[in-house]
Amino acid sequence: MTKRQAGSELERKRASKVSAEPRMERVPRGRGGGGARALAKGNTPRIDREADFIVIGGGSAGVSAARRAAQNGASVILIERGEIGGTCINRGCIPKKMLNYGATWAAILSGCLSHTGGREDWNDASVRIHAEMARLHVSYTQRLQEAGVQLLNGEATVIAPNLVRVGDAVLRAGRILIATGSRPRPLPVPGGELASTSDDVFTWTGVPASVVVVGGGYIAVEMASILSRFGVTVDMLVRENRLLENFDHDVAAALGETLAAKGIRLHMNTEVTLLDQANGAIEVCYRQADGRGQGNGKGGKAGRGGNGGRIESVRAQAVLAAVGREPNVDGLGLEALGVQMTESGNIRVDRQFRSTVRTIHAIGDVIDAPQLTPVAIAQGRWLADRLFARRGEGADFDVTPTAVFCEPALGCVGLTEQQAIEAAGKPDRIGTRIKRFVSLENRFAGNAMPSMIKLVYNARSGRILGIHMMDNAAPEIAQAMALAIRLGVRLSHLQTTVQLHPTVAEELFG
Ligand code: NDP
Repeated sequence: MTKRQAGSELERKRASKVSAEPRMERVPRGRGGGGARALAKGNTPRIDREADFIVIGGGSAGVSAARRAAQNGASVILIERGEIGGTCINRGCIPKKMLNYGATWAAILSGCLSHTGGREDWNDASVRIHAEMARLHVSYTQRLQEAGVQLLNGEATVIAPNLVRVGDAVLRAGRILIATGSRPRPLPVPGGELASTSDDVFTWTGVPASVVVVGGGYIAVEMASILSRFGVTVDMLVRENRLLENFDHDVAAALGETLAAKGIRLHMNTEVTLLDQANGAIEVCYRQADGRGQGNGKGGKAGRGGNGGRIESVRAQAVLAAVGREPNVDGLGLEALGVQMTESGNIRVDRQFRSTVRTIHAIGDVIDAPQLTPVAIAQGRWLADRLFARRGEGADFDVTPTAVFCEPALGCVGLTEQQAIEAAGKPDRIGTRIKRFVSLENRFAGNAMPSMIKLVYNARSGRILGIHMMDNAAPEIAQAMALAIRLGVRLSHLQTTVQLHPTVAEELFG
């Protein structure tokens, strides 16, 4: 066993030791499973437990609401069928960000230490990630227990507006919160089941030699970037003529060019039609809109593939579908109780996160709102304060910073240029400034990876409306600038604030 393997073994042992600490109470599956069994009229079951608040789902949204409600004096039961922490801890932000660290450091190290080739190993990264997940499971569980939340492990079904069944137990509460999150949407084409999702990536024990990534959103871009830095040959099939539809077009274009320059093959204006097994590989057939093909994700070409165009194919050892996420609402029994869904299949809620059944609330990825961990946490705290402390200063969701953890990373806050023009009504009311540069970190590593900062501002008052950045420091800067934008920062403030040198953030100032 090498020194490195011995270290990994140690981490693995540490991870299993941490995960052996306090666990949730396990409730056995009830007769007939977790399927919806709405209560027949007049048939009141034996009540096993009572609480002020039952929270179904132990992810970011559910945990924040449960802890805050318990701290506000409510008796709270939180039910989770899997590991505590939800998508963020187990299949999302945390493992993704750690993989990204591994891949980023590998690139920086191999630039600086090309004689030793600082390569990151997938299995080593995986051990470190699972140790961190185990630590977080313990920490979440302890903090919930310290707050006085009773934790149940099981599959919940809502059987009446105030009743929840978990296994054989029936629980009653004044309020019920659905915070069950979302899961990757399957690829809706013949053979779509051959594609992996981002959930699967975190269970891979090694990386395939080649992957086709389908989609052009957050997950597709992040995974394509991470995998390519682990040495995987990556082809991206994107339906639109640009990446990251909801981001500012200039920053998305700059990212497309950089990813293409790093060797990711971007196929824009493509519609996947079929996946098929082909001698140990997967063949992905797609319709390529006429005259459009491999590009740099810069956009500037019209529309989607439609029914025209030619059929082409690409083969790879694995396919990763990152085509959006769908809410976990199946089997909860909600529709039988009259809880209405929106057109996108999410739970319909009002501004106070109340569903169409007054005692049932919903937050997080199961409602129509940005699917972001901090948004879910803010919703949970606000709701618990409102219900159990009769207060609730809401978070300002209009200024929600967001990041894409690829390389280079994007960090953005506020309006895109397009959104600002639409809000102002006329293009000449909006000003923009774009700065392109190579960061000191990249100069030192000997690569010329470009960075970019774009400011969007009110042309008359100079008030900053949006900041869109591409650099590995961008997510950290976006968090701080969210506060500045909320407080009404103007161009003149940026120009008269003393810069901190040498940093990436200084490029915003002066
Ligand atoms: P996104 O909504 O970001 O992107 C989905 C992509 O899939 C779009 O490019 C969409 O194209 C494309 N698509 C949809 N259907 C098909 C199809 N049938 N064939 C080909 N392409 C298709 O979803 P993600 O799955 O990337 O992420 C889900 C959510 O998770 C995001 O909304 C985000 O909020 C959250 N998230 C946040 C992260 C962060 O904060 N860093 C990281 C990861 C996820 P089109 O535009 O044409 O519809």
